[in-house]
Amino acid sequence: MPLSRSTRALVAIAAVSFPVIVVAYLVAPPDHWARALAYGAAAVLVVVGTLLLARFAHSLRVDRRYADLLENEVAHQTRSLMDSLAATAEAERNLRLVMDAVPDAIIVVDREGRILEANAPAESMAAGEAPLQGRTVFEFFAPAAAPVVGERMAAAFGGEVQRFEVSFVQDDGTRGLRSVLYAPVRERGGGKIARVLVLARDVTDQKRTEAQLQQAEKLTAMGQLVSGVAHEINNPAAIISGFAQTLLLDDLKPEHRDMLQMVYDEATRIGRITSNLLAFARAGGKQRTLVDLNDIVRRTFALRSYHLATLNITVSLQLDRDDPKIWADASELQQVLLNLLINAEQALVTVEPPRTITVRSRAGEHEAVLEIADSGPGIPPEIRAKIFDPFFTTKAEGVGTGLGLSICYGIAHEHGGRIWLESEPGRGARFFVALPRDHRHDARAPLDTAAPAPPPTAATGTLTVLVIDDETALRNALLRFLGRRGIQGHGAADGTEALGLLGQRDFDVIISDVRMPGMSGREFLERLRRERPELTARVVFSTGDTFAPETATLIRESGVPTVTKPFDFAALERVVREVAAAAGPQRLKT
Ligand code: ADP
Repeated sequence: MPLSRSTRALVAIAAVSFPVIVVAYLVAPPDHWARALAYGAAAVLVVVGTLLLARFAHSLRVDRRYADLLENEVAHQTRSLMDSLAATAEAERNLRLVMDAVPDAIIVVDREGRILEANAPAESMAAGEAPLQGRTVFEFFAPAAAPVVGERMAAAFGGEVQRFEVSFVQDDGTRGLRSVLYAPVRERGGGKIARVLVLARDVTDQKRTEAQLQQAEKLTAMGQLVSGVAHEINNPAAIISGFAQTLLLDDLKPEHRDMLQMVYDEATRIGRITSNLLAFARAGGKQRTLVDLNDIVRRTFALRSYHLATLNITVSLQLDRDDPKIWADASELQQVLLNLLINAEQALVTVEPPRTITVRSRAGEHEAVLEIADSGPGIPPEIRAKIFDPFFTTKAEGVGTGLGLSICYGIAHEHGGRIWLESEPGRGARFFVALPRDHRHDARAPLDTAAPAPPPTAATGTLTVLVIDDETALRNALLRFLGRRGIQGHGAADGTEALGLLGQRDFDVIISDVRMPGMSGREFLERLRRERPELTARVVFSTGDTFAPETATLIRESGVPTVTKPFDFAALERVVREVAAAAGPQRLKT
């Protein structure tokens, strides 16, 4: 410790006076002035010592205060350092929590694509393998995507935000689709970009749903068009068929009979085609009904039969005799079958004939299984796991979209069912669709057997029938046929005219079209219920489209017997007689 000048003086005084005192005391006799001097000097020494001690004590106190101050300062600085360290750690923890809370993968990469930071979803996207730090992002994309990923990353390091979609390998080895964003991270104060932030979201399911929706919308639009065309064609077909059937009642030259029979058969064929088209067009709102699996197979096959024949493909339908029913959306099921049939067709045209497709249906207690097998090239083992992935296709652009099987997969699963494949290379492909069976009562059954089934009437007198249809030629065809069969028919162009006629006289049976301009079949039935309830049991509906939802609902709810156009006149006559017999003799108007 450095001594102050005054302290140094006091120490000098003490150093000089101490030997003087000692010498004076030892040498001088008592009462000698030297002794007195020694006593004086001793006294000075005591004073100086005291002063020194006081001085020392003072300086000690000053040092202490200085130390305290210093100590406080150090403690304060340490505390604030600790506080800011804790705040930094807290901020980092919060940032981490926020990053982990984002369901998308967040990754920070360097120029080589090495992962510097990754949040929890990114770690779990990597299927819990070794920590992501140090690995590169390229490992997580399909090899084919690497160039795109590399290009995009270079652009991001050049300062551009990049948004794109890229396929990747999922945990189970299948391919998925990811939406990716690359954002450059600029260093503070300068434009230098040493890191890029990567945001990645798995959009595989979203894309599949979107694609399904898109296809459904396309089918709905197509369905509307098809249904319009089918309706327009159905009526002329019904008229041709009607007149042909009427003429066939005559005595004809065999040659004329053959020709007429052909006209009738072909008109019936047109009717079958339009009926299939209308069933197909029913796509749209998801409607689950009790569906006859075999019926769907036949209808779908009929839609492709011409095309299949031109490609030299033979189709064998091996359908379960029990006609298994499932609770399903018929149009979606038809979509599954159509996709599988088209895939089989496309596979078969790559091989030489014979080309065959076998469609089998079989029902177990709990599920019905549909099998579509082809004799094409089969599916190589290395792509089998991928074929149900959306956008996976081996076909040329414009031919394949890679969506068909993924849509089939989606539909089968939505119905609580499964779809799978068996294939040996070179021995064709066999797709299986299993759907849960439904043992509920067949809601459509009353439709088919809707006509009461009393023993055919021994009608006394002539039956009278009112035919309501806006299509004049069709009405005439029907009236002529009825006339030839000894049934007295009257025509009405619409419901209003019919109600007027019914006000004048009664009829045994009233055949009413369902879709008519002005008053519809439903409105006509409602008017009858209100104004002439006793006549409702005499009504028979005629329709060209039992698949139209509103028609199907009307028929189901009203329980009215229904005949479909083009009419099979023999069947129609049967229904007329049965309804007349069940309703009993008419009350004659007075
Ligand atoms: P797309 O037919 O548009 O390619 P899909 O999802 O329907 O899309 O089919 C995916 C892939 O599965 C096809 O590209 C094809 O490689 C394969 N595939 C599907 N069905 C068959 C089949 N019956 N025979 C051979 N390969 C098939």
